[in-house]
Amino acid sequence: MRIPVMGVEFDCVTMDQALARAAELLENRQSAYCVTPNAEIVYEAIQDPDFRELLNQADIVLPDGAGVVLGAKLLGTPLPGKVAGIEFGERLCDMLTKRGGSLYLLGGKPVVAEQAAQKLTQRHPGLVICGTAHGYFQDEAAAVERIRAAKPDVLFVCLGAPKQERFMRAHCQALPGCLMAGLGGSLDGYAGIAKRAPKWMIRCNLEWLYRLIKQPRRLGRMMRLPKFILLCLGERRRQNG
Ligand code: UDP
Repeated sequence: MRIPVMGVEFDCVTMDQALARAAELLENRQSAYCVTPNAEIVYEAIQDPDFRELLNQADIVLPDGAGVVLGAKLLGTPLPGKVAGIEFGERLCDMLTKRGGSLYLLGGKPVVAEQAAQKLTQRHPGLVICGTAHGYFQDEAAAVERIRAAKPDVLFVCLGAPKQERFMRAHCQALPGCLMAGLGGSLDGYAGIAKRAPKWMIRCNLEWLYRLIKQPRRLGRMMRLPKFILLCLGERRRQNG
């Protein structure tokens, strides 16, 4: 079942259910892609119908952040909770080590993907990483060809939105049997370049505040969060007539 939040249709799933769905797609060897929009990205999609379509066509749509979960609640159609993309990726690594299968990491500045690969294999002994590439390629066709040749079962596409969603939609057919996950800045997180907020801040839904303190230049982008909440409140008022 999907729950629309301002036009973006989220899967009504917990982390475990999202992983079960991913396992099913891997089992069926389907080319598929997964998106993890946060409130900023939903705000972007409200303004851009083509981008919204790219999100809604995904095989798995996960609510990455407390903002989306709050929006769904305000609209009277609550989601079970946040399913953070970075954790989903980490759990996919777990799944690959258990069931077998390989992973390719695409995105980030040069060497970030390799550093992320190193850290992920340390954390998930036995994980097979069949390739890595940075996300600032000039020749997209050549980048896709290299991924194709490596035949990954899972591909993390970490190019930021909307570049990663466009990439996944465009190359889904060219990568048969590959499950792609658009995970934004997750490779920076896995590589240890971008630290996640302390656990207590994550628990208190304050991860956005931590990011703002660390990267004040994100302020413009982050202002989309309150704007998104205001739009949700407006929509609720409209629905209640
Ligand atoms: N990035 C990339 N290629 C590009 C633009 C961005 O690989 O052409 C990477 C960038 O290095 C960063 C990630 O995409 O690692 C985007 O991170 P950000 O935190 O902005 O994304 P979010 O998770 O907020 O969508």
